[in-house]
Amino acid sequence: VCTNSLNLDTLAWQKMNQLLPCVVQCVSTGHVLMQGYMDRASAEATLASGQVTFFSRSKNRLWRKGETSGNTLDLVELTADCDRDALLALVRPQGPTCHLGSTSCWQTQTPLATAPYTQLATLEQTIAARKQAAAPDTSYTAQLFAEGVQRCAQKVGEEGVEVALAGVVEDDAALLNESADLLYHLLVLLQARNLSLADVSKVLATRAQA
Ligand code: AMP
Ligand code: ZN
Ligand code: ZN
Ligand code: ZN
Repeated sequence: VCTNSLNLDTLAWQKMNQLLPCVVQCVSTGHVLMQGYMDRASAEATLASGQVTFFSRSKNRLWRKGETSGNTLDLVELTADCDRDALLALVRPQGPTCHLGSTSCWQTQTPLATAPYTQLATLEQTIAARKQAAAPDTSYTAQLFAEGVQRCAQKVGEEGVEVALAGVVEDDAALLNESADLLYHLLVLLQARNLSLADVSKVLATRAQA
């Protein structure tokens, strides 16, 4: 749900010939997804509907991203930059953003420094989807949720011990594999308790030294 109230009167419409570039970023992974242009009407439509709506220069009309594909961009926050001539839309994308089928319109060669955390966030989303929808006979994750929080906690215990053992007596590959098992099961346990990685992150933040 979008809670922000950007004052459109304060934006540099005149300077930009009534069309501001808008960069779209995924709030959960940090991926930069696409870039489009907004005129005042499309910015209003974006704030009113909670779905990112551009002014399409090729269509020469308002364009709600996903209007035909269904791959909409649910708005979390729309903000202006320092001199108010460019916009950033933080979103939750529904499906791939690029019309060619990929998550982002850009394919970079260089992995982001935050790539490992992005991977965890993606895994967390997959686990959430299994919790919502999957049948226990088709998904191991759904099975864990069906067996309850105690089973999830037990798995974290087992995998924790396996990580500890691998840390002392096994090779790097084994330690990495067991670490992956532990992180996956920890995410499942957190979600079984309706908690998230972001909640853990908040605790870490309170501990961080300035
Ligand atoms: P959509 O808004 O996803 O229903 O797509 C409708 C049309 O908009 C597509 O056929 C493309 O021509 C164009 N389009 C969709 N997504 C993008 C994008 N990320 N970048 C540029 N053009 C797009
Ligand atoms: Zn600027
Ligand atoms: Zn694209
Ligand atoms: Zn294991």
